Amino acid sequence: MTAQFSNFIAGESVRAARMLPNINPSNTHDVIGEFASGSAADVNNAVAAAKAAFPAWSRSNPQERHDILKRASDEVMARKDELGRILSREEGKTLAEGIGEATRAGQILAFFAGEALRLNGEVVNSIRPGVGIEVTREALGVIGMITPWNFPIAIPAWKLAPALAYGNTVVIKPAELVPHSAWALCDILHRAGLPRGVLNLVMGKGSVVGQAIIDHGDVLAISFTGSVGTGRRIAASCVASTPMKKVQLEMGGKNPLVVLDDADLRIAVECAANGAFFSTGQRCTASSRLIVTEGIHDRFVAALTERMQALVVDDALKAGTHIGPVVDAKQLEVDEGYIALGRSEGAKLHWGGERLNRENPGFYLQPALFTECTNQMRLSREEVFGPVASVIRVKDYEEALAVANDTDFGLSSGICTTSLKHATHYRRNSEAGMVMVNLPTAGVDYHVPFGGRKGSSYGPREQGAYAREFYTTVKTAYTFAG
Ligand code: NAD
Repeated sequence: MTAQFSNFIAGESVRAARMLPNINPSNTHDVIGEFASGSAADVNNAVAAAKAAFPAWSRSNPQERHDILKRASDEVMARKDELGRILSREEGKTLAEGIGEATRAGQILAFFAGEALRLNGEVVNSIRPGVGIEVTREALGVIGMITPWNFPIAIPAWKLAPALAYGNTVVIKPAELVPHSAWALCDILHRAGLPRGVLNLVMGKGSVVGQAIIDHGDVLAISFTGSVGTGRRIAASCVASTPMKKVQLEMGGKNPLVVLDDADLRIAVECAANGAFFSTGQRCTASSRLIVTEGIHDRFVAALTERMQALVVDDALKAGTHIGPVVDAKQLEVDEGYIALGRSEGAKLHWGGERLNRENPGFYLQPALFTECTNQMRLSREEVFGPVASVIRVKDYEEALAVANDTDFGLSSGICTTSLKHATHYRRNSEAGMVMVNLPTAGVDYHVPFGGRKGSSYGPREQGAYAREFYTTVKTAYTFAG
């Protein structure tokens, strides 16, 4: 019998009227389980539970919050191989990537266990005699979280850990395609000792569960990661609602990797292959624009093509796989649509882009490299969210920087060069939230801010100590002591 997974509401496992199957993208015959597809009524119950739990949790001893997060971290770390397997089976990234992501979730929980103890304020001298000023940070209340499918455990962890550390209560809805990882994380957090109602998980559709969270008057803040279109609509609803909701959006990218003539070719090829194609290119930080100066262009394309030919595309759980399948049939159609579009726009499909058959039926796509691209093509401007990269040939560093910044996005940006002058200038002038020198645009540390500019992010940064900007609210208290 197929395993059944219920929502968590008010500390209880609550069955939903509808269930949705969770399918393995490496093998569509493999049904991982049936997961609750919640309703607006489930969201109402979850928000009521979170609201009831807030007064006690927001005033709880930081040691208690630390201990719960630390226990959860310890369990995630102890079970990282199993959690990585759960993740890779439902999302399709390789097992090594899945285990790496589970490890990151454990590290994030441990980091914010410590942050629960470090929340501090300021005492400031007043300009008025006898008056004292205290600036403190308080929890916000009930926070709604809506997460995407491409980081099924890390993104829920990097939202939940700070929210809980600082005393908020939560209703979270993971993406429909990957509920198992979020379910496992919530199960671990509950068993680590969270009081009833502090964390509620309602799985299901964005248009039903997500919308009900956004529309609920007792949800005071929304943290969303996903596409720009959904993010824009969510932000508009948050501002239109009463009371207005605080909102944080992490969205797409069209991240440039600049390769200069003086780059170490081996490093540049590794950065491009990793940044553009690992995790099947399904990363908001993927290097989908490879901006290459004339002197190295042909050597770079030849070496990258050779590297791509050695990448094994196969079942995510199989040893030796470098690139797992695309997440589902719909995303595969989008990827193939962009490959057809690139050709029709005059870009040259230099290598790859073929659908592949493997032992089991799955959504396998060979990574695709386009050359002869311009930065004006839709292929170079719109996020594909698949293993597809465009090479844009430029004259020199100045043109490379201008092309890199000519985008509606601004999440991550990279340069491969041995010139200190160009590396320094690029770091200062790249219009992105994260800049990488001789490193892939994807792959970040967990204890520093994560986020971007322009269409990539809206609101305060996530992760590291900066997460407190979103998950707490500042109070300025004036006291006249006589
Ligand atoms: P998506 O926007 O389709 O869905 C994201 C989440 O929003 C899902 O849980 C979905 O169910 C929910 N949703 C959809 N419609 C909704 C509605 N009307 N109301 C409320 N919720 C709704 O995005 P996706 O396809 O799951 O994820 C891919 C996108 O996420 C890409 O654009 C990628 O770049 C982005 N992403 C960004 C970051 C980042 O930190 N910047 C990280 C990972 C992914």
